Amino acid sequence: MTTVRTRIAPSPTGDPHVGTAYIALFNLCFARQHGGQFILRIEDTDQLRSTRESEQQIYDALRWLGIEWDEGPDVGGPHGPYRQSERGEIYKKYSDELVAKGHAFPCFCSAERLDQVRAEQMANKETPRYDGHCMHIAADTAQQRIAAGESHVVRMKVPTEGVCQVNDMLRGTVEIGWDRMDMQVLMKADGLPTYFLANVVDDHLMGITHVLRGEEWLPSAPKLIKLYEYFGWEQPQLCYMPLLRNPDKSKLSKRKNPTSVTFYERMGFMPDAMLNYLGRMGWSMPDEREKFTLAEMIEHFDINRVSLGGPIFDVEKLSWLNGQWLRELSVEQFAEQVQKWAFNPDYMMKIAPHVQQRVETFSQIAPLAGFFFSGALNLDPALFEHKKLDATQVRQVLQLTLWKLEALRQWDKERITECIQAVGTHLELKLRDVMPLMFASITGQASSVSVLDAMEIIGPDLTRFRLRQALELLGGASKKEVKEWEKLFAAMG
Ligand code: GLU
Repeated sequence: MTTVRTRIAPSPTGDPHVGTAYIALFNLCFARQHGGQFILRIEDTDQLRSTRESEQQIYDALRWLGIEWDEGPDVGGPHGPYRQSERGEIYKKYSDELVAKGHAFPCFCSAERLDQVRAEQMANKETPRYDGHCMHIAADTAQQRIAAGESHVVRMKVPTEGVCQVNDMLRGTVEIGWDRMDMQVLMKADGLPTYFLANVVDDHLMGITHVLRGEEWLPSAPKLIKLYEYFGWEQPQLCYMPLLRNPDKSKLSKRKNPTSVTFYERMGFMPDAMLNYLGRMGWSMPDEREKFTLAEMIEHFDINRVSLGGPIFDVEKLSWLNGQWLRELSVEQFAEQVQKWAFNPDYMMKIAPHVQQRVETFSQIAPLAGFFFSGALNLDPALFEHKKLDATQVRQVLQLTLWKLEALRQWDKERITECIQAVGTHLELKLRDVMPLMFASITGQASSVSVLDAMEIIGPDLTRFRLRQALELLGGASKKEVKEWEKLFAAMG
């Protein structure tokens, strides 16, 4: 019998998402329950958006939760490299093989031509898709054009009619019409593969037997299945996991709920409680008990107990569960965990230089700097009344700063200052007009320690959370404002 091998294949393009942790957890449980292996692969073929910082954050977040992998970029293994950006030669070889077998073809169409085709199809109310223009170019002609250095991509051929049967472990057979599939680009003009080619090649070469991934990928399953068929490879078992949702049933998004695992760590949730809660997403223990450990989940794991109704990620429920976990600690353990969380020497050393000059006794520290140890603040709207800016402008400054800081990857005082300055300059405001709003949002006070240092110290998750909290307190941004401000934001570059 082949060993069960599952994987998680995150793209390192942002904060470590709770959805990634959720899918990782289910893959881990499935593998462990079958005595198999769980692999971590980094899908970083999007050169512009992938960063090493984000990759590191994914490792840290998963490890904080207690999720460990048997093979991966940082731990090695027999099927490496486990980072797609280091596997370029491999994809090239397989792409060439598909072209040689006639399952894929080089496409030289310019972006202008593709836009034009698309516009025409849209005008005729057809589904926009590639029209097959380069499919019939003779192989030797195509090779000459490539040898001459002409820019090109490689596209896969897809059937034009009929249906593809996708066998999903949870849904059974799902039929998807080929008329909905485009001739997917497999290799981009920069010589890097797209998700489709790299994912199939790697899952095959890494011996993955079961792929549990988010259901947002279900519509594109036929293309993957076709690729396995073209290569003559056995396809892994597929399992499309229900997507996490906000309490209002919409897809979990950071606009409504913090989605970064690090946010929950920073807020003082316990990793065991968080993992337990993720295990409750669409799944339950046979005896329906709410509180369970990872070991217990593995022991009783049964993929057939995953229910397809969209699981709701509700911070209030998570808090409730965290409370259960927390109260079961001994007082000693509790004290130890709190210390580890924020009353540790590292964190103290970050804060000390900023409070030392501002207090006369230690007992003045908590009132001055309590916000370093808090999550949400009790904000007073009066703090946001501004001498120069009206209420709308205040909200606008908060929103633009929030967007700017959401995009910031390297979190340090200098870069944070640049972001705030950029917003100020764009709105023709002085830094000293913008800063009081930062003070109010981040510290909950009219003055305190240096707010730019405070933002660096409390970190991106809490900074963004508090700016959002302030914005919401003042009424949020209407749909119309969001539209207008997005334009403004885009113009900031
Ligand atoms: N890189 C994809 C992602 O970021 C992987 C999806 C899959 O599991 O195939 O979600």
